[in-house]
Amino acid sequence: MTKPCGYMELAYRDITYCKNVGAKRADILRQELGVRTAMDMLRQYPYKYIDRSRFYSIAELEDEDTYVQIVGEVVEWHTVGLGRAQRLSAQFTDGDRMIELVWFKGVQYVKLEKGVKYLLFGKPTRFNHTYNFVHPDLTPWRKVTPEMTQGLEPYYNTTERMKRVGLNSKAMRQIIAGLMPDLKTGVPDTIGVDVLQRYRMMGLTEALVNVHFPKDTLSMQRARERLKFEELFYIQLQLLRQMKRREQNPGFLMPIVGSRFHGLYRSLPFTLTGAQQRVIREIHTDLKSGRQMNRLLQGDVGSGKTLVALLCCLLAVDNGYQTCIMAPTEILANQHYETLRNFLAPLNEPAGNRSSVNVALLTGSTTKKQREPIHEGLRNGTIDILVGTHALLEDTVQWGNLGLVIVDEQHRFGVAQRAKLWNKNTTPPHVLVMTATPIPRTLAMTVYGDLRVSIIDELPPGRKPVQTIHYSILRRSSINSFIRQQVDAGRQIYVVFPLIQENEKLDLRDLENGYNALCETFPDYPISMVHGKMRAKDKDLQMQRFANGETRILVATTVIEVGVNVPNASVMIIENAERFGLSQLHQLRGRVGRGAEQSYCILLTNMELSKETRQRMEIMVATNDGFRIAEADLQLRGPGDLEGTAQSGLPFDLHIANLSTDGQILELARRAAGEIIDDDPLLENQHNQIYRRRLDILRIETHNWGDIS
Ligand code: ADP
Ligand code: MG
Repeated sequence: MTKPCGYMELAYRDITYCKNVGAKRADILRQELGVRTAMDMLRQYPYKYIDRSRFYSIAELEDEDTYVQIVGEVVEWHTVGLGRAQRLSAQFTDGDRMIELVWFKGVQYVKLEKGVKYLLFGKPTRFNHTYNFVHPDLTPWRKVTPEMTQGLEPYYNTTERMKRVGLNSKAMRQIIAGLMPDLKTGVPDTIGVDVLQRYRMMGLTEALVNVHFPKDTLSMQRARERLKFEELFYIQLQLLRQMKRREQNPGFLMPIVGSRFHGLYRSLPFTLTGAQQRVIREIHTDLKSGRQMNRLLQGDVGSGKTLVALLCCLLAVDNGYQTCIMAPTEILANQHYETLRNFLAPLNEPAGNRSSVNVALLTGSTTKKQREPIHEGLRNGTIDILVGTHALLEDTVQWGNLGLVIVDEQHRFGVAQRAKLWNKNTTPPHVLVMTATPIPRTLAMTVYGDLRVSIIDELPPGRKPVQTIHYSILRRSSINSFIRQQVDAGRQIYVVFPLIQENEKLDLRDLENGYNALCETFPDYPISMVHGKMRAKDKDLQMQRFANGETRILVATTVIEVGVNVPNASVMIIENAERFGLSQLHQLRGRVGRGAEQSYCILLTNMELSKETRQRMEIMVATNDGFRIAEADLQLRGPGDLEGTAQSGLPFDLHIANLSTDGQILELARRAAGEIIDDDPLLENQHNQIYRRRLDILRIETHNWGDIS
């Protein structure tokens, strides 16, 4: 196709000089949306469409949230009130039924006429048992142009600041409409024809035309599918290229399975589950491959990830390397340290024997004096395993021979943070990332898409599934009798209260009230209480007393969310369960069900619950499967807190794709990107330059835009 004379590629055309823009609007578009060029503008996708080809009758109205249009007449109207409080109410009929139209503002500008046919356009509001329209658009039928009632009308996101200068959705639509004639002459595609054909995706030009001004619903959907595919494809391409690049890194060789690994293995009072054995084999295959390992270890709560981590450390130590385990919080670091020392006790007997393993702990609370021997031990190689918090990364820690880093994370640890690990050494250590609870597949493929995945999909044998019950607080007395029955049968009980920083004082009061109430109800039971504001020493003492069985009930904030292991505890009571997220609830529930007895999790909530909260409770009651819960969590919450590259650790922002609903497109995008990277890992071939250039552009855009916002 020939371009008109004076034509300039849309990607290079300054938005200022586009129709309906100008300097002032251009400034605001740049500051508010990051739009600099005509192409940037075309990449502002509508967030919804309203079908203007469909006409409703009043009887059909059933949804508050959708725009509708109705043809009819105004039969009667009157104003109520005076001055600013004045309101105009009109009765509108479609010939069959009657509906009220209301105006609160600009009443004097509303001109109504009897006996005239109108096109009404607006969103119905439910009012008592009927609907009304507040501030509808009312256009006399003789002024309705064919375009107004043709196809899907796009709606664009705008900001307050944009609206103040008249840049509302309609203005955005006009600017974009002004670009259509040039767009239709064609823009260079960002994806090769071969890929588009194989995956049956629209070309870019057609997709951009149809995302803004779709011919019909099908073309709109196909256009959006293509644009989502493109977004996810480039994220996958970037992640897979990173993965391949790292896999070109030489890795420390750890072929030996030595005395420490075997020693621990033999000393275990149980055998490893099949899944534990499988993932250890997968990891060991990486460790002896001569290439650097980058792996994600997923498993449900209680599936035995900690032991797998320790065995992997021992593989490294048996080969003469040092290792570290990084935990997200100090409490968790302490617990890991204790767990490791317990597991390793048989190996370290007698002290200093050939197979002994030296573990050290380094956190924010480690004193300067304690640090010195640790730093020394790390340098001279006498410390085999260092357990600590993220401070390990920042610290001036120098290693004699660091061969394996294990990151145990509860919260997401982004791609960027992970990158720090690789910059510490010339030969980078092997990296194993562990998640506290399972994450949905779509997230695993994006947030952790640069890692190979191992999954422990089996719990140690003999575990009885925890029975979960949802009660309203009105049932407190029956819960108390249940507590009594369980404690009398020799069991122990957790009672957990939410605590968030913004609300700390109130939350602590709830906790203390709860503790006092329990002490009053059960004067004969010793009860412990722990929370984050206590001195570490007191906290440890209370945890210890509960772990020994000295106290029967532990009242706590979420400090026990991570790690603690008291097999005799068989009841988890969660107060204000509505305030916890699904994965937190699941993690808490994982604290019980570790012994031979039937265990219970009781979710206590108020009577009045939002629909979303009710669903959360239903899911908890319905399943113990962490992978299913993770999927449901993503569906319910949406990927909201994933948006924005910074938090999510995604290489590029998502503008149209949605990780909670676009799983299938993501699978296709990953496959398409995988085929390219398998064939040309570093994108060096001539025909792959299109991808390389686009990745560079996306990187620059992401960074610049990140700086502004
Ligand atoms: P995760 O970290 O995956 O939530 P843990 O590592 O805390 O799970 O393991 C939970 C409990 O199960 C621990 O007490 C651990 O010692 C025990 N455990 C681990 N593996 C096995 C196994 N194969 N058989 C029996 N118990 C096991
Ligand atoms: Mg654990």
